[in-house]
Order: sequence, then C-alpha cells, then structure tokens
Amino acid sequence: MLVCALCAFFVATFMIKLEAAELAAKIKEAVKTEIERGIRRPGLAAVRVGDDPASAVYVRNKIQACEAVGIRSEHHALPESTSTAELLELIATLNARDDVDGILTQLPLPAHVSETAIIEAIDPAKDVDGFHPVNAGRLAMGRPVFVPCTPAGIMELLDDRGIEIRGTNACVVGRSQIVGRPMAQLLLQRDATVTICHSRTRDLAAVTRTADLLVVAIGRAGLIGREHIKPGATVIDVGMNRVSDPDEVRSLFGAEAEKRLEIVAKRGATLVGDVNPSEAGEVARMLTPVPGGVGLLTVAMLMKNTLRAAKLRRA
Ligand code: NAP
Repeated sequence: MLVCALCAFFVATFMIKLEAAELAAKIKEAVKTEIERGIRRPGLAAVRVGDDPASAVYVRNKIQACEAVGIRSEHHALPESTSTAELLELIATLNARDDVDGILTQLPLPAHVSETAIIEAIDPAKDVDGFHPVNAGRLAMGRPVFVPCTPAGIMELLDDRGIEIRGTNACVVGRSQIVGRPMAQLLLQRDATVTICHSRTRDLAAVTRTADLLVVAIGRAGLIGREHIKPGATVIDVGMNRVSDPDEVRSLFGAEAEKRLEIVAKRGATLVGDVNPSEAGEVARMLTPVPGGVGLLTVAMLMKNTLRAAKLRRA
C-alpha cells in the first residue's frame, strides 16, 4: 500500500507535460528554410463551406502558418448553400492549376454536401490532408505518401522525445478516418502492438489500462480518467472540446482550475482535451497538454505535407 502511494506520488510529482510548441516551430522553420533555399514557392488552397466558427479559426491558423513559412495560400470561403456539384467544380479547377500544390477541404462540410465525393475528387498528388482513399490505402499498405497531419505530428512528437514505440502495447481510442485509423496504422508500422477502441468497446478502461502508449481521439471532454490509464503510461490527448461549466472546469483541472475559470470568464469557454488532466496527472508519466500539444503539430505537418507535394509534383 505504502509502495503504491509512493509510486502515485512519484508519478504525480514528475509527470512530464509533452508541450509541442518548440517542435512545431522547428518543423515550420525547416519548411521555411527549404523554401528559401530555392524550391519554387509551394501553393496551398484551403476550401471552407459555411459559417462554422471553429472551422473559420482552423483555416485562419493554417493560412497564417503558410504566410510564416513562405507557402502561397488562398482561402476559398464559400456560402453554406454551396452544392456538392459547385464544390466539385472548384476542386476540378484547383486540381488543374499548376500553381496549386496542395488542396485542403476543411471538415466538417455542411450535411447536404457529400464529404466522400469531395475527398475523392481531390487529386491524390495534392491531397495534403491524406484523406483520399489512395493515400489511406498506401498508408495501410505501409507505403505512405501523404499521412493525415494529426497522427503524423504525433509520431514526430514521440520520436522527438525518444518515446519507445517498438514492442509496446499501444491503444488508440477512436477510429475516425482523420485521426484514429491512420494513428493505429502508423503505430503498427513502427512495431507497436496496437488495439483500437471505439464507442462499442466493452469495458473501455480495462482495455486502455493495458496500454504503455495511449492515444485518445474521441471528442468528449475529460472522458479518460485515472481508471483508464496504466501507471507510468504516455498519454497523447488529441481531443479539442470547449467547456464553459465552472463545476466541470473544477473537476477537470483540480489545483489549476482558477486559471481556466478566468479564461471561461473572459472568453466564455476553455479548451479541454478528451483526457481529465488532473486525474491523468496522478498516474501518467507523460501527457500532452490541451492547448499546447497535438493541435500545434497538426498545422506544422500540413506545412510539411504541402512542401512535400510541391517537391513530388516537380520531381
Ligand atoms: P470523430 O470522427 O467524431 O470520432 C470519434 C471516435 O471516438 C469514434 O471512433 C467514436 O466511436 C469514438 N468514441 C465516441 N465516444 C466514445 C466513447 N464513449 N468511448 C470510446 N470511444 C468513443 O472524431 P475525430 O475527428 O477523430 O476527433 C476526435 C477529437 O479530436 C475531437 O475532439 C476533435 O476536435 C479532435 N481533433 C483534434 C485535432 C488536433 O489537431 N488537435 C485534429 C483532429 C481532431 P465510433 O466509431 O464507434 O462512433
């Protein structure tokens, strides 16, 4: 009992926050340097449909990152009423243009637009999000070209911090096309023993508690608590949820709640991952913070993928 208490104290005291700002800056700096050294300026076209405020922020961040690294960018902000046919027409134009190396369609699209049709219409050679079936298939076969930016960024973070992947028990919670599935493929290719969980998994905690490396991409604020985490595990929190209820903020942030409550008072909500940071702090060895973790790497990897697309198209 005393040993357990000491272990908990040790882990809680020494839990490492896997901040990603420095690595994201390093990745973007490398892209910038390569562009400055003479490759013809890469071009990225971002397509957004409707007025979803979160999508508007994500696209703005991506455009700002393009400016910072020297990628030419264009933002096609289309009205909510845009039809699948109209969007397909725009994608066809962007596919045909030589000065556009990468095309991204910010998801989710409005319900009346066929997301599948749009994703499949993008030229796989310009699919810098890595969502096209050709790129998903290549990844599944172990011959990736464009890997979805969020899981690709997580792999960079694990490597940057020297976190062991080979032979470890890795668990990915979530099986979306943009995070969970490609994440599991990448870990498998690096010789982890991978389990994928989802909303139908029986006794989620019993499965996740076996993981040395736990990647969580669910979309439910703080769902993963102390009972889901193996003592000493590395936990990667992909979730991005907005929480405004002060009681919920207190239960998620414990001693650090005051800072977050100030943010709620100022902005109406605070950004929270899928992991309860205060409970995870009692058991995990490492945890990515939200914000300041995975999200920063997603944008950096988009820059890297766009540079790659430009190089491959001109090779
Ligand atoms: P998604 O498409 O909605 O997928 C969510 C996954 O979680 C599904 O596979 C779902 O299972 C599973 N799930 C839902 N409830 C569950 C539960 N109670 N127990 C176990 N599994 C459960 O979401 P996503 O696009 O992958 O995004 C997930 C989160 O990551 C969101 O918060 C999103 O905002 C965030 N995100 C962040 C970044 C970043 O850059 N940081 C990038 C992308 C996404 P089923 O398949 O059975 O429905």
